[in-house]
Amino acid sequence: MTDRLSAIRANFDDWQVDALLLTSPANRRWASGFTGSAAHLLIARDRAVLATDSRYWERAAQEAPAYEVFQLRDSKDDMRNFLALAGGPRIGLEARHVTLAFHKQLAANEGVAWVPLPATVEALRAVKSADELAAIRVAARLTDVAVALVPQLARPGITERAVAWELEKAMREAGAESVAFDIIVASGPNSALPHHHPGDRQLQAGDIVIVDLGAQVDGYKSDLTRSFYLGETAGDAFWGLYNTVSAAHQAAVAGIRPGVTGKAVDALARDLITAAGHGDHFGHGTGHGVGLEIHEEPRFSRLAEGTVIPAGAVMTVEPGIYLPGYGGVRIEDLLLVTADGAEYLSAAPQTPLIAI
Ligand code: ZN
Ligand code: ZN
Repeated sequence: MTDRLSAIRANFDDWQVDALLLTSPANRRWASGFTGSAAHLLIARDRAVLATDSRYWERAAQEAPAYEVFQLRDSKDDMRNFLALAGGPRIGLEARHVTLAFHKQLAANEGVAWVPLPATVEALRAVKSADELAAIRVAARLTDVAVALVPQLARPGITERAVAWELEKAMREAGAESVAFDIIVASGPNSALPHHHPGDRQLQAGDIVIVDLGAQVDGYKSDLTRSFYLGETAGDAFWGLYNTVSAAHQAAVAGIRPGVTGKAVDALARDLITAAGHGDHFGHGTGHGVGLEIHEEPRFSRLAEGTVIPAGAVMTVEPGIYLPGYGGVRIEDLLLVTADGAEYLSAAPQTPLIAI
């Protein structure tokens, strides 16, 4: 944590701040180790202070030994006394996380010049440490274990919801502390909805079934999507989509290396899909960072022109094509950006046909 504090403080001159206030759960956890649900971190040049209420005083001392614990006791002076530890008047805050209500509470403290920062530690979080990577590798392995069950689970008559529950159980029983996000099981025409919520639809022969799942281990997440076809043989309509998405996926993975922009990697997948006539059927980005949050920086996206992908980032590659009323295909893997390319962290096979 002292390395992380030094890395944060190295930005203070750029940000023109004397201290940084972190309140969003993922940034807070990354910068301190504290896993509780309520705390403010005040990172000054010469001290780091974690303010929390009596529920968490002991846990904060254990989990965040690099921080002094400031005991919040519901006094109206608490916040002013806490902020006085900043060591200067200019305090940066997370412009994308602070609510209007909290901002009002902060603004009531005279003598502080608040500096809204569009990003704080997100770029630092993008490069994973050995410990973070170890947790993500375990989460990715648990996801592989669960998705390997899909060919047995996905039988005509079972509901999407039942498949999702079996996959969740499999990850939990294999050691996941939780799922990384609500599992997506989207069958038949529902597979054309990228973030479909699994419902009571029963799987049928001839369905495309998209399964998107992830496990959480020590707070770190994994993310994987496989697209299946229920039947021994599929027609040209399915293979046309599947092979295009697969080629787009491989093209994007082949283009990953440190220093490439997020936009360039997105274009490698997107150009192939557009050339196949499906540019309008691929509405989301090609991939995203994964860590304490399921979607975090950096991104493989049309908007990521100024985003440089660093070595040590953990990214998904997940192009998809979605045809309303018919169905969709998405293939998503988790990768580590290495010194000269990318390493697959997920090892699930890409074999879509399920004999029924
Ligand atoms: Zn996913
Ligand atoms: Zn994803």
